[in-house]
Parts: sequence; C-alpha cells; structure tokens
Amino acid sequence: MAICTGCSLLCQDIEASVSEGKLTKAKNLCRKGHGHFQASFSERTSPMIGRKQVDLNQAIARAAEILRSAKSPLLFGWSNSTLEAQRVGISLAEKLGATIDDTSSFCQGSLMESILSGRLPSCTLDDVRNYADTSIFWGADPSNSHPRHLSRFSYYPRGEKRQKSYEEERTCLVVDVRMSATAALCKENLFRVSPGGDAEFIEAILSVLAGKIPRVGDKKKMIELGTMLKKTEWGAIFPGPGLVYSLQGNMEILEKLLARLNEITVFKVVPMVGHFNMRGFNELLREKTGHINRVSFKGGEIVHGPEQSVMTAAKSCDAALIVGYDPLSSLPFATAQALARLPLIAIDPHRSLTTDAAEVVIPAAISGLEAGGTAVRTDGVKIEFEPIIEPGLPADEQILKRIMEAI
Ligand code: SF4
Repeated sequence: MAICTGCSLLCQDIEASVSEGKLTKAKNLCRKGHGHFQASFSERTSPMIGRKQVDLNQAIARAAEILRSAKSPLLFGWSNSTLEAQRVGISLAEKLGATIDDTSSFCQGSLMESILSGRLPSCTLDDVRNYADTSIFWGADPSNSHPRHLSRFSYYPRGEKRQKSYEEERTCLVVDVRMSATAALCKENLFRVSPGGDAEFIEAILSVLAGKIPRVGDKKKMIELGTMLKKTEWGAIFPGPGLVYSLQGNMEILEKLLARLNEITVFKVVPMVGHFNMRGFNELLREKTGHINRVSFKGGEIVHGPEQSVMTAAKSCDAALIVGYDPLSSLPFATAQALARLPLIAIDPHRSLTTDAAEVVIPAAISGLEAGGTAVRTDGVKIEFEPIIEPGLPADEQILKRIMEAI
C-alpha cells in the first residue's frame, strides 16, 4: 500500500504501481491525488549553482557556504516535508541563529494555535466517522480540497455509532460565501455569509442559542440552524481558509461559539489543513519553542512575532533556504520580490519559479513516493510511510543533515 501526500488526509490505502516514470496502477486515489501522483514524474530538478548544472556534493557545499556566511538567514517552507526533515530544519535554524517560518504563518496558523493550545476542543477524524451526526464545513470545500473527506470520515461512511450514516443519521451543513461543490451536495443546508461576515454570523448563532432574535441573516433560517445545532448529539466543525481569513486572527469568537455549543451538546473542531504536513511542523516547533511558527533563534534567544513572519523577514534577511515550497509564485509580490533578490537555496523535487530564481538548487526525493518518513494528519494522527519506488535522490532530511554537517 502506498500513501498519498496530495492533501493532509494522507490516505494510506492507495494501491499504486509505477513503471518507467509512469503511474501504471492507481486504486483509491481521488482525482486530486491522481493528479498529484502523475505530476510527480515531470519537471524534476537537478543540482545547480548559478543556473549551471553541478554535482550534488557541490550544490550542498555551496548551500552550506551561503548559510554559514549569512548574518540573518531565513529558513522557510516545511509544510511538504516529513517530521524527520522538519526536526533537522529546526535544529539547523537553532545552530545558525536563523528565523524559521512555515506556510501556516499566512493561512491557518491562528486556528492551529487555538487547537494545539486546547482553546478549541478537537478530535480525530476517526471519532468523526464513529460518532458525528452533524458535520459543518465552514469556509471549506472538501470536495475540491480534500476530496475523500466526506467518503472516508464526515458524511458517507458507516461508523460505530452511525450505522445508518448519511441516509438517516448524518447531516451535512455548509457555511460559505458561495455555492461550492460541497454546498451543492446539501443545498438545503447551505448558510450563505457575506465576504468577511463570519464573525457577525457567529454572533447571530449565539443570539439564537440564547433564545434571542438574530440581528443579521434570514431570521427564520437562523432559527432553524439554532434548532439543528441544539438537536445535534455529536457535532464537528471543519473550518477552512474561508473562515480563518474572514476572522482575521480573531479566534476568540469561534472559541466562544464552541464553548457555548459544548454547554448544550458535544461539538469539536477539526482543521482543514492544505499541505500534507503543516500540522507536523507546527507541533514540532511548538514543542521546541512554545510557538507554532514565526520564530527567530538569533543570539541564542527565542523571539516570536510578526517580525519573524516570512512576509517581514524576507525583507530583512540576507539569505534564504526554501524547502518544498514555491513562495515566488504564491506569496504577495513584495515578499516574492524581496526573496528573489537574496541568495536563495531551494531544496525541492520539482522545478518552480523559486527553483528557477535560486542561486543553489538541490533536488530531493518525493516524500511518500521515493522517500519514507512520518507526517501528522490534519487531525493530529501520526502516519508513518515507506517509499514505493527506489529513490535515486536523497530525502530532504538527508540533505539538511549534510548541510548541517558542512556548516
Ligand atoms: S483525499 Fe487527499 S490524500 Fe486522499 S487520495 Fe485524495 S489527495 Fe490524496
């Protein structure tokens, strides 16, 4: 059995075989996972210095040289790396006195912080499959982002206490600004919010739960929603980027809603992380420093804050190591421009805008396909995996260890 690293569900039941760089058999892969496996074989990187092909040892030696001579290096990426590689990356940041940050810094970091610190009650997806009778997708569209979420965990499967499943025992609700693919599956339970209106919508739910008339939204529909929530035996809320961006870091209001719901019944929150091991990095860094992202080890001190986010640090650092991510094509122009001016080191299996702009490119084996390791599923469950094909390249972890030794 293979694992799919196409999203943070880390499906472990994939029957896949590969021959001559092509996927020849694929069972249980969703459309997104299939695309992820197919794309694995194209646009591979090779070791480069200054856009000239070199051997791997030379690329590693040059990367070590750049990092050794930098006064304020930035180490960024990490959400597409194994726990083993992330652990070495954090040690490298400590050794260099560097700033380290990951993709949660500009997406679901505030939600993850609330969950990992216990301010939002959470559970595993296996609990959801076994017990949940109400699943709420809020600013999330799993039919596209996590395509097997509904079939493996949240709506269609039969669980220990939910043998009658979606036909009789499970209800799916969607809160969104639009008719998403997931909302189309349960149109009658779509609650539309205006863009940026989620905090107001939460206030309206709290009013209904307190027996008051809500000030916003369709009053009749809001009262129906309040009744559905009160009748729930065991509920799960899946907040996606739509909700997190809309709340702009104001998790207190979501925490207040969960506290109120749990006075009435059981409600848990399970994040909808995009990259396959973002949660793993957040847990490891938190264990080491007390913070899930945006940390500097400069001068042997641990400093955390907005100054240590990739958006700010990109403008003040003097070299950057990017692991398994393409910030030049996905971050705002000013950040991408600041990174592109630096001596960049990119460790990546695939070519991207970032690898094209990098001073040093180090190719890596693809996690799950060519490299084994451990990752943390979106709900916090650790998943170990083995490679399914012989790697011709070292894994991120081995590359980072070699850079560390050379420094
Ligand atoms: S749901 Fe995610 S992990 Fe599972 S097969 Fe699809 S892309 Fe891969």
